[in-house]
Amino acid sequence: MKIERTGMLLILSGPSGAGKGTLGKMLLEQDDSFCFSVSATTRAPRPGEVPDVDYHFVDDRRFDELIGQNAFLEYATVHGNRYGTLRGDVENRLRHGQNVLLDIDVQGAAMVMARMPEAVSVFILPPSFTELRERLVKRGTETEEVIDRRMANARQEVGQMDIYQYVLINEAPPEASFLKLKSIVDAEKLRLSRCTVTIDD
Ligand code: 5GP
Repeated sequence: MKIERTGMLLILSGPSGAGKGTLGKMLLEQDDSFCFSVSATTRAPRPGEVPDVDYHFVDDRRFDELIGQNAFLEYATVHGNRYGTLRGDVENRLRHGQNVLLDIDVQGAAMVMARMPEAVSVFILPPSFTELRERLVKRGTETEEVIDRRMANARQEVGQMDIYQYVLINEAPPEASFLKLKSIVDAEKLRLSRCTVTIDD
C-alpha cells in the first residue's frame, strides 16, 4: 500500500504577541515537511529581521504593482501597514507536496479560507489580554502608541475567531502548546481528502 499526499496549507493567526511566531518557528524547525510562506509587506524591517527570510520588504508602489499582477492569494492592511501572501510561492509548494505555513491576520485568513477551503486554520490565544500587553511591552520593539493600537486590534481579532477550525491558548513556556499544535498537524496529515492511496495486493 502506498499513500501520496498533496501539501497542507496551515493558517496560524492570533493577536500580535500571542506567540504564533514562536509556535510557527518551532513547527518549521521540528517538521521539515513544512516551509514558511514569506509575505510581502510595506512595514519597515525591525532590528534583526532578515529581508526575504522574514518578509519581502517592499514600498507602496511595488505592493500596488503586485496587486495589479494578481500576485497575491490575499492581502490586507494590518496595524496601518500592508501585508500580502504571494500566490505563486504557495501554489507551487503545495503542488509539490510540501506543507506551507501562513502567519497571517484574520482578514487575510478569511480570504484564504474562501479560496482554499481545504486549508487548516488555527487561532492562537494569549492567556489573557493583560499578559498580552506585558509581552508586547517586554518585546521592546514598539512604541506605546503602537502597543495601544495592537491591543485594540487584538480584542477585535479575538472577536472574529469563530471562522477558524482550531483554537489553542499559548501559555508560557510554549512547549505544551506546541505539542497541541503538532497533534493538530499530525492528524490533518492523515486526512483522506489530502491523500491518494494506492492499493497493492
Ligand atoms: P508583524 O508586523 O508583527 O510581523 O505582523 C503583524 C500582523 O500581520 C500579524 O498578525 C501577522 O500575522 C500579519 N501578517 C503577516 N503577514 C501577512 C500576510 O501576508 N497577510 C496578512 N493578511 N497578514 C499578515
